[in-house]
Amino acid sequence: MNLPDKVTICEVGLRDGLQNEKRLFTLQEKLALLNSVVKSGIKIIEVGSFVNPKAVPAMADTDELAKLMPKSSGIEYRALVANLRGVQRAHECGISKTKLTVSASEAHCLSNLNKLPAEIIHGFKDCVEYAQKQSLQLSGAISTAFGCPFQGKVPALQVENVVKEFLNLGITELSLSDTTGMANPKQVYNLCTMLKTKYPQVRWILHFHNTRGMALANIFAGMQAGITTYDGSFAGLGGCPFAPGASGNVATEDIVHMLDEMGIETNIDLLDVIETAKLAQSFAGRITESFILKAGRCQDLVK
Ligand code: ZN
Repeated sequence: MNLPDKVTICEVGLRDGLQNEKRLFTLQEKLALLNSVVKSGIKIIEVGSFVNPKAVPAMADTDELAKLMPKSSGIEYRALVANLRGVQRAHECGISKTKLTVSASEAHCLSNLNKLPAEIIHGFKDCVEYAQKQSLQLSGAISTAFGCPFQGKVPALQVENVVKEFLNLGITELSLSDTTGMANPKQVYNLCTMLKTKYPQVRWILHFHNTRGMALANIFAGMQAGITTYDGSFAGLGGCPFAPGASGNVATEDIVHMLDEMGIETNIDLLDVIETAKLAQSFAGRITESFILKAGRCQDLVK
């Protein structure tokens, strides 16, 4: 079995997790969650997004949260942005990495923005120029990379075309997002193996939603394809406000627990991750889709 010794987890709960919750979390609640994530040892944290607050009200206070981020060394804070104004806002409040997102699905892009994926990426040129001048880092996210509620299957060639457009802009960290939980492990293995072989210069990140219960299997398939960085969301919160049927991200504690059980190193304290998830669940005010919060760790059974 081809598995990595070490895996990196990125916590996206403060962005993807909260943007689809019915209840708006207060700034103090977000800060408590952020401090808890930092305590667990997670080193890549997506703190929010800089998008139109009318479209995504849960992210309206990302600037304020960013100003309160613990300044621990070795932590990478990132934010999702849609355009140059987003990159500028992130820079103004001290976030050095922004993630530009585009859907691989032509139908999704046309429905949301009335543009094709390549046209959207060409529109990111001003973001790249600004980032270069200010020494900021840019990352690219390819949503609906494994399936789209508007289009159905998304051919590998469409995903590869988006990869090429990002590389043309000089962006070499790319995440493939299964926005609506349509990926299956065989598809993940095949797509990731192809892309990783053809574009070895890319730092790949995989982002799965557990809408149909396949997220952990997809992570396993991604690891077999040699990908070692994965997004997770505390307590399994999450979804996409623009994608019908989207539900929670795979829970960070479920990923860390699986990796711990398999002896794959994360440098993350699982008990601390579980504490973060409990906090998130209590703020959300509902039982969330987290296996470990429901069932506990395997080792909790052995007294
Ligand atoms: Zn997502």
